[in-house]
Order: sequence, then C-alpha cells, then structure tokens
Amino acid sequence: MPSAPIFIKNDPTLMFTNAGMNQFKDIILGNATPKCRRQADSQKCLRVSGKHNDLEEVGHDTYHHTMFEMLGNWSFGDYFKKEAISWAWEYIVDVLKIDPKDLYATVFEGSPEEGLSRDDEAASIWEQFLPKDHIINGNKHDNFWEMGDTGPCGPCSEIHVDSRSEEEKAKVPGRELVNKDHPQVIEIWNLVFMQYNRKADGSLEGLPAKVIDTGMGFERLVRTLQGKTSNYDTDVFQPLIKVLGDLSGCKYGEDEKKDIAMRVVVDHLRAIAFAIADGQLPSNAKAGYVIRRILRRAVRYGYTFLGQKEAFIYKLVPTLVDEMGEAFPEIVAQQKLVMKVMQEEESSFLRTLENGIKLLQGVIDETKAAGKSEIAGDKAFTLFDTFGFPLDLTELICREQGLAVDEKGFDVCMQEQKNRARNAAEVKLGDWVVLSEAESEFVGYDNTEYPAHIVKYREVQQKKRTAYEVILDKTPFYGEMGGEVGDSGVLVSENEEIKVLDTKKENGLSIHIVDKLPEQPEAEFMACVDVERRRAIEANHTCTHLLDEALREVLGTHVEQKGSLVTADGLRFDFSHFEKVTPEQLREVEHIVNAKIREDIPLKEYRDYPIEKAKELGAIALFGEKYGDKVRVVQFGTSVEFCGGCHAQSTGRLGMVRLTSESSIAAGVRRIEAITGKAVEETLDKMQDFMSDLRGLLNNAPDLMATIQKAIAENKELQAQVDEFKAQKAQQLKQVLIEKAREVNGVKVISGVLPMEAQHVKDIAFQLRGQFPERLLVVIGSEAAGKPALTVSLSDDLVAEGKNAGQYVREAGKLIQGGGGGQPHFATAGGKNPEGLKSAVDKIVELAIG
Ligand code: ATP
Ligand code: MG
Repeated sequence: MPSAPIFIKNDPTLMFTNAGMNQFKDIILGNATPKCRRQADSQKCLRVSGKHNDLEEVGHDTYHHTMFEMLGNWSFGDYFKKEAISWAWEYIVDVLKIDPKDLYATVFEGSPEEGLSRDDEAASIWEQFLPKDHIINGNKHDNFWEMGDTGPCGPCSEIHVDSRSEEEKAKVPGRELVNKDHPQVIEIWNLVFMQYNRKADGSLEGLPAKVIDTGMGFERLVRTLQGKTSNYDTDVFQPLIKVLGDLSGCKYGEDEKKDIAMRVVVDHLRAIAFAIADGQLPSNAKAGYVIRRILRRAVRYGYTFLGQKEAFIYKLVPTLVDEMGEAFPEIVAQQKLVMKVMQEEESSFLRTLENGIKLLQGVIDETKAAGKSEIAGDKAFTLFDTFGFPLDLTELICREQGLAVDEKGFDVCMQEQKNRARNAAEVKLGDWVVLSEAESEFVGYDNTEYPAHIVKYREVQQKKRTAYEVILDKTPFYGEMGGEVGDSGVLVSENEEIKVLDTKKENGLSIHIVDKLPEQPEAEFMACVDVERRRAIEANHTCTHLLDEALREVLGTHVEQKGSLVTADGLRFDFSHFEKVTPEQLREVEHIVNAKIREDIPLKEYRDYPIEKAKELGAIALFGEKYGDKVRVVQFGTSVEFCGGCHAQSTGRLGMVRLTSESSIAAGVRRIEAITGKAVEETLDKMQDFMSDLRGLLNNAPDLMATIQKAIAENKELQAQVDEFKAQKAQQLKQVLIEKAREVNGVKVISGVLPMEAQHVKDIAFQLRGQFPERLLVVIGSEAAGKPALTVSLSDDLVAEGKNAGQYVREAGKLIQGGGGGQPHFATAGGKNPEGLKSAVDKIVELAIG
C-alpha cells in the first residue's frame, strides 16, 4: 500500500496520521472488507497532538521525530502471532543483519483486574529466537495497545535495540534499560496483536477477525543499520544539517544548545513540508494551527540559538526534495507552494516575535518598577498564548535582565486552558446497538429515496447535548466528505417520522445524525433526502469542477485545488496561484463556465473504475487524497476528475454561475466563492430592485448613467460657485475687520470671530500681513461645521521683539478645548468648544500686547 496522506479527513478522533494502522481503521473496525488480507507499507506519520504527542521531546532527544516513516505489515484475519514474530525476526536478523545479542523483546505481563493472563503465546515464540533473559515482561502501558476508549485492542510485543558500547553493556545489562528512556536502548519495532474489542462499559470481548498491526520507525532502523547513536547522524538528516550549518554558520556537534536547535529545525522542516504538500496549510484552527505551531517552534529555536532573524527554514526545502522526492513525489510537485507558504509564515511569525519582545520589555519594566524580581505567570502565559511566545524564551530574555518567571503560575494557566479545551471536546460514545450484520451501502448517486433498515444505532453525548447516530443498510444520504456537505432529510416508517439533521462519513461509514431514536427500530423505513437541497448541492459541486477547469485554462496549469466547500447555498474553491486574479480574468472564467452550462453537457460517470485507466482518461487527482485501486471518475466533457461527490445530471441544471468574491487565504493560495442556479436568480433580483430604486430616486430617468453624470457635473459647478461666494464673503468680512481695527500700545490690532473655514481665515491673515507690514497683530477666531479654530499672525517687527504667535495659540487653545502651534509669525489651533472662541481671542490679544 502507498502511504496515506499525513492528515486525516474522515475520523473525528484524529487530525493526523500517527501510526500505520490509521489508514486501515475502517477495515479493523469491520466497516470495510480488505482487498488483500496481507498488506505492507511505509507510512508518513506525525506525532504532534492527541494521544501521541512527541513534540516537546523532539530535538532534545535523538530518536523522537514529529514526522517519521513507519514501516508496517498487516494481517486482517490472516496470519497471527507466530508468523508476525518469526518474520520480524527473519527480517531484522537474517536480512538486515542486526546482531541478535543486542536485541530484546517485551511481552505483555497480564492484568489481573482485566482478567488477562501473561501473553505466554508470544513469549514462547520469542523463546525460539532469544535467550530468556532477553524477553522482558511489560505492563499495560507499554504492552497493551488500544485504538481508543473503545474498539479493537490487544497485547503487543516490542523489539528494542541496545546500541551502547561494549564497555557500557558489560557494566549494565541492556535488559535493565529497556523502556527506561535510555537514548541508546530504544524501541524500533512494535508488533500489535489485536484480539479483543473494548466496549463502552470497559469490558473486553473477543474480536472475530484478529488483526496483526506492526510499526517500525524507519529513522531508528537506519540509525541501527548505520551504526550511529543518533537518528540525526544518519544520512536521513545529515544532508539537511549540513545545509543548515552552511546557512547559519553553526557547526553541528560543538554546542549542545545549537545542536538541539539544529535538530528541531531539520525535523520540523519535514513535518511542515509534508503537511503542506498533502494540502494542510498553516492556519489558526485545528490541524492548520498545529502545523503553524510546529513551524513557530522551529523559527523560535532558529531565532534564539542560531541567530536567524529572517525567514530561513524554507531554504532547506530544495535539499529535502532532493533527499525524499523519489519516494514521495508529492513533495516534488508541491515544492514551489511549500517554499512560498513557509517563507511567508516564517516572516510573519518573526514580526510577531519582535512585537512579543517589545511587549515583554514592557512587562519587565513594570515588574522592575514594582520592585519585584519575578514576572507574573499569567503575563508569561498571555505572551505564550496570544503571541506564540514560549516560556523558555521569556525566561531567557528575563534572565538577561536579572528577572525570573513564575513558572508555577504559568503552569496553572496552561492547565486551566487544557481543561477548558478538553471539556469542550469531550464526546461520550455509547455502544452500538446492533440490529443486523448487513453491510451499509450508499445508493445516493442514483436515488434520493430508498427503502432501508437500521443496521445499528448509538447515543452520542457532546457538551451535554444528546444526539443519535444511525447506520442504514442502504442509504441515499451522502455523508459529508471531500468538501461536500452531508444530506439532510427524513426516515419515514408506517408509524413515525424521524428527522435526519445531517449525515457524515466516518471511517468509511455513513452516519445519520437523527433527532430521536425510532420507537420501532426494526421497522422498514423510507429514507428520503431533502431533494431540493441536494439538487442545489449537486449543482454547486458540478460547478466546482467546471470552475477548476476554467481556472486552469485562464490562469495556467499550476492551478491546483487546495480546499473546497460545497453547500446548498454556494461553493468555495481554494487553489494555488501566486497573485491576485484580475477582474478581467474572473470575468473570463465566469464566461467559460457559463458557456459550458449552456452547452448542457451530460454527466458521464465511471464507478469502480481501475485507477490506472482513470489516469489514462486524464482525470485530475487531488494531492493529499487517498485513493484505492478502484476509483470514481466524474466527467463533464473535457472536465475529468477523481470524485466521490454528488453531481448534476447535466451542466444545464446549474442554470448560471456568478463569482461573488476572490481573495487570498494564505501565501500562494487564493479563494473564489460562487453561486449557481436559484441563488444567482435571487442575486439578480436584488440587483434589479436596487437599480429600479436608484432610477426611482432620479425620477425614473431613462438614461441612468447620463443622469448621474449630469448630477455630478452640476454638483461640481455648484461647488465652484459656492467657493467663489465664500471668497467674496471673506473679502467683505476682512473689510469689516479692518474698519473695526484699533491701536493698542502702538500696535494695530485686527481681531474678531468669523463664521468661516480656517483655510479662508489663513488667506485673510496673510493678506492683512501684506497690507499692514508694520506693528500688526491679527487674531481671528472662526467656526465652521461646529469646529472652532484660532488663527494668529504677527508682523515681522513684532516677532523681532520676541513675540511668538505659536506660544499664544498653545496657551489660548485650552479655552476652546484644543491645541495647536506654528511659527512665531503665524500659528493656528483647532478645538472642540466653539463657546470659548471669544475669550480665546481676547486672551491672545492680552498675551501679545496687554
Ligand atoms: P517510544 O516509546 O519510543 O515513544 P512508542 O511506543 O510511542 O515508542 P509505537 O507507538 O509503538 O512507539 O510506534 C511504533 C514504532 O514507531 C516505534 O517502535 C518506533 O520505532 C517508531 N516511533 C514511534 N514514535 C516515534 C517518533 N516520535 N519518532 C520516530 N519514530 C517513532
Ligand atoms: Mg511514543
């Protein structure tokens, strides 16, 4: 099997693939039948959230990664313990030639309270290969594997390798270090024997088809084979470390802190690059936020310990592509986008870091001013939570300035936040009540109504609300998947009607969310989809395909889908493109799609089609999507895509498309929103109503455009006239002022309060200065649109005597609740209180010559 994408779309309990078994979960749960009962693969895994979270270890130790490859082999009801153990042995000892004397195996010691005895079966198989003192009992924590609170589980057997020097081995036997977090005695392979099913009440029952699930860390295996004591010393990481060293001028192996930072950077680089390549962009919610945090962790280590003040991690991508591109072509295909997104994210976080440092400096100053020696824990937490400013960095900066951080207070805040998150996310699943063993089949491509029986149902509690989940043997209801929302509708029997609020797809099962449980669950129901809603969804899905094709035609073939949402109300389509789509291009795209709609191209559908033949058809596949050997292909003329969604019977059903917005959602990713059919009709109605209203306002003018243009021109002309009148008025007022001028202490004082704009007052003041160049003081208060202003001007001789207009307006400005300033010969002030104008004018006269 090829590796599944690194992030998971149809399992509410998981964001990222964290083990090889994830992609087989539907088989293990019995929701799907395996194509082969034996499988093997190398799976990209990410352990950065939830049950498996190694993030904080990464970099500090030498054998945990965020992203790593897990090699695995599976048996679904085929071989079991005997084969799994002896083949594992054969592979690592006979094929890979690892020295058996360095190997240890653990077996489950049993659990009396669960009524489980020691896994003697596994132990006796190991005894064929290993001496007894290399077989170690392990507890439930290490040696009993569970998928979750409920579901398949069973004992497991781990293989550990002791890679210490002979000297050390002689001192302390390896068996004493197994599962003790010793960096040189590490687990490389875990063989899981699933033989039980855990029920909601905690009890165990036998699993009908037993499963073997094994996982071996590729990087740890390579390190063993290459005789290294750190995963980072292998050729998986060395090329990246070398480039990073050249780039940062730091040499690996000289300074522990720098080494940790270098390990963090080269490790996180892989996680981020693969996540983006598989379609998960950094964002501020859910999986996208986890990716963002990983990137920020790497940036911060680079910033603090490697002196990187500008984006740099993205520069390692070409080396990563050289190293891993052959095995994982997605990283080659997505290189440009990966680099662009990383560079942008890095730069923007570096800006945040700088702001955070400023903020922290404020906190430090306050703390010092208060005479304290410790930064409050909640302050440190705010920095962490809203600025992504980690505690150790806060501590480092504080230490440089002689302060400590209240770590306990920080931990309390952290714990509170975790509790809040946990309570919000807590879901209680009841056991399935199974009515029949029938397999569930989706019949909704061809039907919107179908007779059905309930296969099983259960109660689900989340945030104190209760809902019910129902599985049908045949269902026309589409479960939310691939961006298309789920169907809603009703289940009707002879006696009752049950509302289907939503349908989702989980681990291969279509789950109907219903408002109540049927009184007679065994009855036959008519499963009826809300047809009008479904038709609208279909139209929007078909439109998404046409849009995708048109965008490639207009913008280029680099356009690739990066996200999609198809609802009854419209569609959203995210795609890679590196600049804004121009209005002309949008128009062109719209025209192409509308032309295809008018062509009324019929839907051509290929179900259960061999994937190779689908590729021959030129069908477009999505990056980060997991496809089986048989796929569904949806074709409308030249648009051919891999797709499991619901579509219009022909493009004519879309009626018409209208693009409603175009925007950027991340570096290199644009978003287009669009509507079809009835929604377009409604929009056009609204536009038309708007136009008629507008026309009504303008007395039903026949030529609206000309009428508006005329109004604008008239308005301009009137404005010019008004300006002219104002200027004339100003001249008149000036004349009045001159007539009222008085002599005080040998100075000509022209003052008064005028109803006009400050701009005109300024003109008057300058004219007066020209007219009376000697011993002149002009003080004018003015008011326009309720805003008071003061204007003061002095002749040069008065300025030479030391008088200063700027100083007077500043002083008198207070009387109009304002302030201002200017030069000694001319100054102005604005304010809020026109009432004070008169006294402000008097005040200035008094200040100047009083
Ligand atoms: P450990 O105790 O070392 O964290 P684990 O018990 O979490 O290992 P499993 O869940 O059994 O490991 O995963 C199977 C194999 O995957 C391990 O034997 C190991 O080789 C590898 N592995 C697990 N976690 C990581 C990781 N974070 N980085 C690299 N390899 C890992
Ligand atoms: Mg682990």
